[in-house]
Amino acid sequence: MGAFNNNARNLTPDNNGKRESVSLEMIDFNPEWQFKDSKTGVFYKNGIIPQKLFITFLGGNIQPESAKRAIDILEKMFQSGVLTNCEYIRIADYNEVINAPFSTRILYANSLNRLNSTYNCRPSITYICGASLLLKTMLRLFASYVKQLFIFVPTVQDAFVKINTGPNLDRVERDRKIVLSQQEIDQFATLCGHILFNESFTFDEKLNGVSPDNPLHDLYTIISLLNNDLRELQKTEKEQKKQIEDALEDFRMLNSQLSVQKKNVEEKEQIQQILIKNLTQARKEAETANRAKSEFLANLSHEIITPLHAVIGMTDLLCSTSLNSEQKTYTDTIQMSTQQLHQLLNNILEFSKNVSGKLDSEQSIFDIRRLFDDISSLLLDEALKKRLLLTFAIPNSIPTPLLGYPAFLLKVLINLVENAIKFSEKGEIVVSIRHLSETSDDITLCISVKDSGIGIPEGKKELILQQFTQLDSSATRKAGGTGLGLAIAKQLIEFMGGTLNLCSVEHEGSEFWFILAFIKPQENSNLPKAFTAMQERVSPSEKELSGSQQSIENALPINNRILLVEDNSVNQRVAKAMLNKLGCTVDIAANGFEALDALQQNTYALVIMDLQMPLMGGLEATKEIRKQATGRINPNIPIIAMTANATKEDHNNCLKAGMNDFISKPVMMTTLQTLLQKWVQ
Ligand code: ADP
Repeated sequence: MGAFNNNARNLTPDNNGKRESVSLEMIDFNPEWQFKDSKTGVFYKNGIIPQKLFITFLGGNIQPESAKRAIDILEKMFQSGVLTNCEYIRIADYNEVINAPFSTRILYANSLNRLNSTYNCRPSITYICGASLLLKTMLRLFASYVKQLFIFVPTVQDAFVKINTGPNLDRVERDRKIVLSQQEIDQFATLCGHILFNESFTFDEKLNGVSPDNPLHDLYTIISLLNNDLRELQKTEKEQKKQIEDALEDFRMLNSQLSVQKKNVEEKEQIQQILIKNLTQARKEAETANRAKSEFLANLSHEIITPLHAVIGMTDLLCSTSLNSEQKTYTDTIQMSTQQLHQLLNNILEFSKNVSGKLDSEQSIFDIRRLFDDISSLLLDEALKKRLLLTFAIPNSIPTPLLGYPAFLLKVLINLVENAIKFSEKGEIVVSIRHLSETSDDITLCISVKDSGIGIPEGKKELILQQFTQLDSSATRKAGGTGLGLAIAKQLIEFMGGTLNLCSVEHEGSEFWFILAFIKPQENSNLPKAFTAMQERVSPSEKELSGSQQSIENALPINNRILLVEDNSVNQRVAKAMLNKLGCTVDIAANGFEALDALQQNTYALVIMDLQMPLMGGLEATKEIRKQATGRINPNIPIIAMTANATKEDHNNCLKAGMNDFISKPVMMTTLQTLLQKWVQ
């Protein structure tokens, strides 16, 4: 950069033909027109004598980014107007350029050219300092292209000397005539042909034997350069083509992998669908099987219950005859066993009914304190027999009438208290209610049955709450049971909207508890009042069993004709024997049709009608009897339904069909006696 210290003062022709010296000192190096990149070592420095001279110093390893930065500065400089509308001298010092790609040089040269024409200025002479042979050749071509004069000098000082001393000899040089032989032109044409048509041709200056004195030397050099560029471009093009093909191949592979994966996902989805379908089918089948199992159980129980009813009835009849004390012991045992068997079958029937969703779901108003009284009177004796204390705790804050399912609640508590008695040998059983919350409409209670019995081992609690599980402890074996008690309790609690829970410590005791919400009935509520729980559970036959020992024959001195409509011959025999014993004459019809016939021919005081019979059932027959127009002798005759397991729904259906009352099987003497007293005038 010694150029900046040059003091030489030379002259350049002014407009009047006089020379005016220019020197470095006169140059304005505006800081905005320079940059130096400390990282790459590239520098670009511009100076101006307005309207006269433009000098550039460039150095370092020039890359396309530096060229862009330089062009931005050029733009700025031309925009400032220092060279607008003038002819100027340009000096470019490339002495310190280490490397500059050909394309970058072309970009720079073209930009400068564009700015010259935009701002209407023309470099009269361009002095290039320190250009390589190659650059000189290129610039010569560029000079011819832009029709400018380029002079190559070694240094900036030389440029200033030439500017200030003139006259310019280079013009003479330019006008020099050159002689070319046809052979030289042909040789050049051959070379161009090779470049165009022979892709593998590489230019070798020596091979072509072109000496530096050859007037075409510069052209050869530039063509060699272009050839190299062309080969480079062709190579790059090939590489890029290969890259594109590779990328395409990768893409194709990815695409096919994607399709495989998509297919896999689709297959998995299909399998999933099939699994879901199979699962749904299996669930349906399991549910159907479960229902079938419950129905089978119900049918089986029903089939067992029918002869059992006969056994119970006949034992009842037997008990009403005069027996000696030994016979009495036997009949008492038969009676006790049949009652237990009956209870068990009723449980199975109830459970299977619950499984098939046939729960009687009507709510009624009930008194929870009386419900507790009923449990007490049912189970106190059993507890006392084992010297267990059975206590009940109901806080005063709990209102008396509640709306809920008293029969279900009773059943649940009986099951839990019976278990508590069964699995305790000492201590106390406490049935209690805790008041959890209350609004003006409802009340939430926690109801629990706690004992101090054998308890349930840790890890078995979950098991116990599953259906039919019995712990294989000696106590369970001793106490017996079916595993139905908790299953029924659980079902009923869930139906009422609660969950059965269990806290237990082995050898210390268990507590079964559940939370239920009850509606508080309003003063003038029209809802049905429940029988007292006790009344609802205990059938008339059981209620009056205690009185069965009194002399039945004396109790009812009536002799009326009764029509018994029943298809089962054993039941026919039992009921007939009982009615005869009560002093009645009995005609038997095996189905509804036979009953209608009998009613047309005879006068009866009462009809006792089974519900399920072949050809015509009890409900249908009753409807027929009640039709006034059919000419029955007494269409208003009292008709009593006789059913095996009477639900409220059955009861309602009987009343709807026109029946007057119903009795449950097994039919007992005392029940029939009460019935006759009520209905036979
Ligand atoms: P069952 O009493 O007829 O066996 P449950 O369903 O009522 O059937 O009870 C199932 C099992 O749960 C019983 O066999 C017993 O092992 C256990 N269990 C129920 N209640 C208690 C209790 N209060 N204390 C200890 N174990 C009990």
